[in-house]
Amino acid sequence: MNAEITLSRTFTFEAAHSLNLKGSTDEGYKRLHGHSFLATLSVKGKKADIDHWLMDFGSFDPIIESLKEKLDHAYLNELDGLVSPTLENLCSYIYNEVTTILPGLHAVEVARPTCNQSCKLVIGE
Ligand SMILES: [Zn+2]
Repeated sequence: MNAEITLSRTFTFEAAHSLNLKGSTDEGYKRLHGHSFLATLSVKGKKADIDHWLMDFGSFDPIIESLKEKLDHAYLNELDGLVSPTLENLCSYIYNEVTTILPGLHAVEVARPTCNQSCKLVIGE
């Protein structure tokens, strides 16, 4: 079987932000507030046979550790490249941080589970 498979690894971080979005009528976005975020990194590749694996899940560990050092308990607006820390921009930020060190990166998803909100950035073919 020559199937295409996707592996995903999730991690969480707690962070604060404020958003001054054009067109938003929610004044709460502008105030400093925090969220619990759930992020997912997905890699895609071909599985050659039953014994072949795409990658070791442990390979995600140093990448996630590095991301958590920057994102966890941070004021997201202060991070370089993340002036407006929307979910969309958080996906792009994470993508830019890991794209050169995570072969096969296919998608980055960031969610605010307690708000029932998520955004998924899927990298084009
Ligand atoms: Zn918010």
